[in-house]
Amino acid sequence: MKDHKELLSVCDLRVQFAGKKSGIMGKAKPIPVVNGVTFSVMKGETLGLVGESGCGKTTLGRALIRLGQPSVTGKIRFEGREISTLSNRDFRSLRKEMQMIFQDPFGSLNPRLTVGQTLEEVLLVHHIARGTVANKRIEELLDVVGLSRDYRNRYPHEFSGGQRQRIGIARALAVNPKFIICDEPVSALDVSIQSQIINLLKDLQINMGLTYLFIAHDLSVVEYISDRVAVMYLGNIVEIAESTELYTNPEHPYTRALLSAIPNPEYGAKKERILLNGDLPGPLNMPSGCPFHPRCPQAMPACKERTPMLHDRQKNGHQVACLLFE
Ligand code: SF4
Repeated sequence: MKDHKELLSVCDLRVQFAGKKSGIMGKAKPIPVVNGVTFSVMKGETLGLVGESGCGKTTLGRALIRLGQPSVTGKIRFEGREISTLSNRDFRSLRKEMQMIFQDPFGSLNPRLTVGQTLEEVLLVHHIARGTVANKRIEELLDVVGLSRDYRNRYPHEFSGGQRQRIGIARALAVNPKFIICDEPVSALDVSIQSQIINLLKDLQINMGLTYLFIAHDLSVVEYISDRVAVMYLGNIVEIAESTELYTNPEHPYTRALLSAIPNPEYGAKKERILLNGDLPGPLNMPSGCPFHPRCPQAMPACKERTPMLHDRQKNGHQVACLLFE
């Protein structure tokens, strides 16, 4: 249930990776992947984050919970507390509250541990339970994600993709998190299994009051699960709005192009497919002005010079970063 209180807020977040040195004396040029994003997530809501592969959405999600070793600047607040300045040691205790579900659960599960051992390890590492209490908790977790208790002695390779994702969800739930980053959790699954996992995530959200950042490139899936949706392009959020508003009244030319590609009569039949010029540029070739201008069908001369900022023109929470709306 959404209670309109902010759980997470991100202000001007920038993420860079170290580039390669050019020559022996050359300096490594940092690779900017997230370029100053600002957004918040309310308690109990699902914020969808969409964009082409390589737009920085996964890097953004990982940076929120300090996965990997990029350079991160900007402010991150969780439950009103500034967490971007916490030491790694202090941040570790907070990790229980913020969990991640990965696209490839098989890759993130230890093949040498049974499901029971995987869940028990999480409970032990976080000092949540051991012995008979841990056993009971493992059974509860398997029940909650719809897996038979008999499966606890099986290894990851003995499960289907959908079952492995349920194990990944159980592992995330083991620590009683408040916030879960779902990083393309159904992209690798068959369509019929996708809906089962999405419905499971929705049920868990209602029953446990969870808050999600749901990262995906499939706009239909994102629409189904999200309360609000943010569209990302080349490390920037270019549009953010309530889900229904964004899908029925997209303003940014990039969002319109993405929506026009959905093979869904509700949108596709009404809208002509908008084709974009070229491919997504690399982060080292960031265009001047509006980052989308080399591909934008509505680009104007000013778009090469001026960088548009997110702007809530109608004061209804629908923000768009495009000079057409300034
Ligand atoms: Fe297109 Fe210009 Fe708007 Fe950028 S600012 S999306 S280039 S119209």
